[in-house]
Formats: sequence, structure tokens, C-alpha cells
Amino acid sequence: MKEASRLSQISTSMIRRMFEIVEKAKKEGRDIISLTIGEPDFDTPQEVVERACRAMNTGFTHYTSNFGLEELRSAIAERYGVESSNVMVTAGGSEALLNASLAFIEEGSKVVIPSPNFLSYFTYAKMCGGKIVQLKTHDSNFLPDVDRLNEIVDRNVSVIFLNYPNNPTGAVIKEKDLRAIAEIAADSGAIVVSDEIYDQIYYDIKPTSLAGEENVVCVNGFSKSLAMTGWRIGFTIADEKLLDPMLKVHQVNGVCAPAFAQKAVAEVMAEGLFDTIVSRMVKEFRKRRDYLYSELSRIYDVVKPEGAFYMFLNVGEDCMRYAEKLIGLGVAVTPGLPFGEWNETYVRISYANSLENLKRAVEIIKEYEGQRA
Ligand code: PLP
Repeated sequence: MKEASRLSQISTSMIRRMFEIVEKAKKEGRDIISLTIGEPDFDTPQEVVERACRAMNTGFTHYTSNFGLEELRSAIAERYGVESSNVMVTAGGSEALLNASLAFIEEGSKVVIPSPNFLSYFTYAKMCGGKIVQLKTHDSNFLPDVDRLNEIVDRNVSVIFLNYPNNPTGAVIKEKDLRAIAEIAADSGAIVVSDEIYDQIYYDIKPTSLAGEENVVCVNGFSKSLAMTGWRIGFTIADEKLLDPMLKVHQVNGVCAPAFAQKAVAEVMAEGLFDTIVSRMVKEFRKRRDYLYSELSRIYDVVKPEGAFYMFLNVGEDCMRYAEKLIGLGVAVTPGLPFGEWNETYVRISYANSLENLKRAVEIIKEYEGQRA
């Protein structure tokens, strides 16, 4: 078997190693509190499930248009202040990201990724033959410095990946800076892929959407906002001339999101239930964020997350060593390395876990730090 050369730079070893460590601990009968989870710990709300069952029973079991059900496109368009012709429904946010990458990353072109960032961007860029240029954000609260970005971006940049609220840091960028980056990209002919998948999960600052900006592809979905990770339903908002290249990929990639999932979400949005469901979840996430921040900021260097359900801690030692030691004590965290350069001493904590488990985890972390001191 010979793997295609486009995959030669892509590795799954780190994820495998962490998985093996957790599996080994479980086999040994140890109770592990996992703070590695990248999805809400809540089940999909009943409001969605009931409507999906009804949809399945009334024939929403076939292909839909590649663009998605019109009623869902319209509901999304209304929410983001665009036309429904600017919306393409996809099989999750991941499909939308791959569509955008294959559509816009020219082989050999530069792909700008602020670090730390969602690990998949590095994979998409490598798969498409892009040259990754990382922008350090550790000394600016995990937000890109616009002047520094301006120095990096030239006509060889094809795509700039942005993600606010951010995975793994929870950082939310200011509207002024976000729009300035979109302008820098436009001036040099680059496309901004603005991954807004956590836009509903925020605490004090409402994240800005770049929907409607000319050279921007917004990626979003319902995996996080409606706790629907297993349903595979996402969407892209972009100018029609940008949707067209992505449709070339989508028609052979995701094809369409599950019809019953589209119908259920469309109804939830039309009936005005979306915000109520989201706020129920965010209320819980806020309690956990406040608890974790107050505890962990006393021990580590942490930036207070403004969105999503992650915290990125500088633990002051090799992240793999730290993660392995902590597993030994019963807590699993994600090492910072896969999130980009300069993350060797960082780990990501997901608070998509009960407050009770978070409290136990904090006690274990304190115990570890007590041993280290
Ligand atoms: N973008 C970011 C920043 C994410 O964290 C994730 C999932 O963890 C995704 C996209 C993918 O979401 P989906 O499940 O909709 O493919």
C-alpha cells in the first residue's frame, strides 16, 4: 500500500498516542475524568429530536438540493442578514472547511493560520499543498496583532483561517480587528475562511460575524449550538461567486446534509426556539467557565475565555509529560502541540463536563501541582 504523497505531512500519531494512553488507563480499571471533549456534553435537545422524528416519518429521508432545504437556507439567511442564495448547507462544519480549502488553497500558496488554532486547519492546508505561515498570538491574549498580520499577508497568500470564539483558547476578536483583517485579505486577493462554529456560545462579548463580506467564506453549523455533532449539519455563507467553486467540491463530497436534520433545524429556527435552546446551554457553560477560571488562574497563566467551552493553560512544562502525569492521577487533557507552533507548554481543557467532575478534576490538578512544588 502506498499512501498518496499529499498525505505525507499529515500525522495522526499524537491523537493515537493520547487515545492509547486513555484506553490503557481505562483497561486498568481507572476512573478517568475527560477534559478532552470537543462537543457539548448535553444530548441533542428534545425540541430538535421530536421534529427530526416527525420529519423522518413524513418523507424527509431523501437527498435535498446540494444547497440545502430552502426553508433552512432562508432561516439562516435571515439570522445573518444575507440572501438565501448566499447559504449552502453542508454535512457539518468540517465538510464546509474542506470544501473551502479545496476550492481556494492553490498548491504552493501560503495559508495563514494564527496559532494556537483548531488543529484541522493545518491538515486542510497540508492536504491542499499550501505552505503554512503561523502567526504567534501568545503575547496578545491569543488574538492576532493586525499590524503583524499585515506584514505577513502578500499576494502569495490564498487563505487566512480565523476562528472566533476560538478553539482551543475561547478568545473572541474585536469587531474592528476582524474587519481590518478582512480588508487586508481583500487588498491582497486572499480569502478569509471565518470559522464561526462557536458563535452562539459566548459570555460577555457577542462575536462578530463576517457574513456578507465580499472575500469571506463563513463556516458555521449546528454541531455546537444545538449539540448536534452526530447529525452532521453545517453551513457556509459566502458571495455566490465563492459558493460556486465550493459547490464543485460539495457535489462530490458531502452532497447534502441529512434531510430530516435540515427540516428539524429549520422548524426550530422558524418557531423561535433556537435562542432559548442555546441560552440554556450557555448558562451552564458560563457557570463552569467562571468556576474553572477562578480556580485555575490561581495556579496557571490563563486568558479568560470569552466563548466556546475551552481554556488553554500554560502549565509551564512539556505538555505531553504533563498530560501523561495527569492521566496517571485520573484526569485527561489535550496537549497543546497539535494546535500549532509555540504551544509546547500549553494544554487544552474542555469544560464540556459536569461541574461535579470539573471540581474533582481541579482537586487532582491541585494535588499534582502540590507534588511538583
Ligand atoms: N471548527 C472548529 C473550530 C471546531 O472546533 C470543530 C469541531 O470541533 C469544527 C469546526 C467541526 O465541526 P463539525 O462537527 O460541524 O464538523
